[in-house]
Amino acid sequence: EGRLVPFAEFRLPFALGHGERLLPPEPVESLAQYRSLGGLKALEALQKGHLAPEALFQAVEEAGLLGRGGAAFPTHIKMRAVARGEPPRYLVVNADESEPGNFKDRFLLEHHPFLVLEGALLAAWAIGAERAYLYVREEFEAAIRGLEKAIGELEEAGLAPVPLEVFRSGGLYICGEETALLESMEGRRAEPRLKPPFPVERGLWGRPTLVQNVETLANLPLILREGPAAWRAREPKLFSVSGDVERPGLYELPLGTPLGEALRRAGGEPEALQAVLLGGAAGVFTRDWAFPLRYREKLPLGAGALVAFGEGVDLWEVLLGLAHFFQEESCGKCFPCPLGTAVQVEMVKRRERNPSLVADLVATLKGSLCGLGQSAFWAYQSLLEVEGAA
Ligand code: NAD
Ligand code: SF4
Repeated sequence: EGRLVPFAEFRLPFALGHGERLLPPEPVESLAQYRSLGGLKALEALQKGHLAPEALFQAVEEAGLLGRGGAAFPTHIKMRAVARGEPPRYLVVNADESEPGNFKDRFLLEHHPFLVLEGALLAAWAIGAERAYLYVREEFEAAIRGLEKAIGELEEAGLAPVPLEVFRSGGLYICGEETALLESMEGRRAEPRLKPPFPVERGLWGRPTLVQNVETLANLPLILREGPAAWRAREPKLFSVSGDVERPGLYELPLGTPLGEALRRAGGEPEALQAVLLGGAAGVFTRDWAFPLRYREKLPLGAGALVAFGEGVDLWEVLLGLAHFFQEESCGKCFPCPLGTAVQVEMVKRRERNPSLVADLVATLKGSLCGLGQSAFWAYQSLLEVEGAA
C-alpha cells in the first residue's frame, strides 16, 4: 500500500527504496535544511581534501551507475574520458526533460535542488571543469527559480568549487538530444551532430564536455554517502507512473522490479489494463507484467516512464497522438525522419497492419540520424505485437 511520506521522514533525499510515492509537501529550500537531512557530506569531504577525482570515478564504477536519461551508458567511462581531455572542459546537466510521461527530473529540480547541485559540483570538480551549466527546459519556471537561489546559497557558503550557471533551453523535444542541446547553447538551431565524435571528446565549443542527466548526477552524493556496494544493492531508479492507476506519481524502486509490481505500488491492477507504454513516446507498449524493469533487457526502459492504459482506451488513438508528436518534433535535418514520421501518421490513421508496409517504414526510420527518428516507430511496432499477443 503506497502512502504519502512526510518530508522529514525522508532523511536521505529520494533514497527511500521502499516504493512509496514520493510526494514531500515542501521542497528542500535552504542549505541548512539540506544539511539537516544529511546532505553536503560529499562536498564537505571534497573541501577538506578527503576526496580525489579518481576515488569518485572508482566509486561510480563500483556502483555500476548507468546514465538515467534513457541510454544507460556507464557514467564512469564518460567522466574519465572527459577528465583525460585537454582543458577547458565543461559539464552540462541535461535538465531538458521532455519525453512524454516522464516527470522525474522536474521533481528533482523542484524538490531537491541542492542534491542535484551537489552531484553536479562533484562531477564538475572531478573532471576539472571550468564551468558547469544546467540546461533547463524553459517551462520549468519554478525549478529555474529554485536552482538560481540554491546556486547563490552554495556560492555564498564557499561550497561551489566550480562556477554554476543556468541556461534556459528553447523548449523543443530535440533540445534534449545532447548534441542538439550543445548546438543551441552555441547559438545555433537545435539540430543533432553526427556522433562520433562524442561530446566527451568534442562537446561545447568543441571542448571535452560531460553531458549528464539530472537523476544520474543526483545519485553521486548518495553513492559516496552510502558506499558503492550498498548503493548497488538497492540500485534505485525513479519511475514516473501515470494513466489508469489509482495513485499516479513518482516512485523510487530498485532496478529489476517486475513491471506488474511497479504498477501495483501505484494502485494499478495489471490484469485489468490493456497495456503500458514503457519509456514514454520513444517507448513500447507491453503487457509483459513479469518484465524486470532494468536496463539492457529485451524492452527499453528509457528514462522510466510507465503510462497505464485501462479498458476503454483506444490505443490506436493514443498511437496517433504519438505519431503526430514525432512528426511535429522532427527537426528536419536528415531525410528519413521527416519522411518516415509523416508516412507513419498516415499509416496509423488508417490503422495499417500490413507487415511488409510496416517493415518498410521501420527500415526507413532506422536510417535516421538521431534517436528521435530511430525510435519513432517503436510504439507502432509494439502495439502490433501487443495486438498479436492479445
Ligand atoms: P547514446 O547511446 O548515443 O549515448 C548515450 C550517452 O553515452 C551519450 O552521452 C553519449 O555521448 C555517450 N556515449 C555513447 N557512446 C560513447 C562512447 N563510445 N564514448 C563516449 N561516450 C559515449 O544515446 P542518446 O542518443 O544520447 O540518448 C538516447 C536515449 O535518450 C534513448 O534511450 C531515450 O530513452 C532517451 N530519451 C530521453 C528523453 C528524456 O526526456 N529523458 C527524451 C528523449 C529520449
Ligand atoms: Fe532531426 Fe529527426 Fe534527423 Fe534526428 S532523426 S536529426 S530529429 S530529422
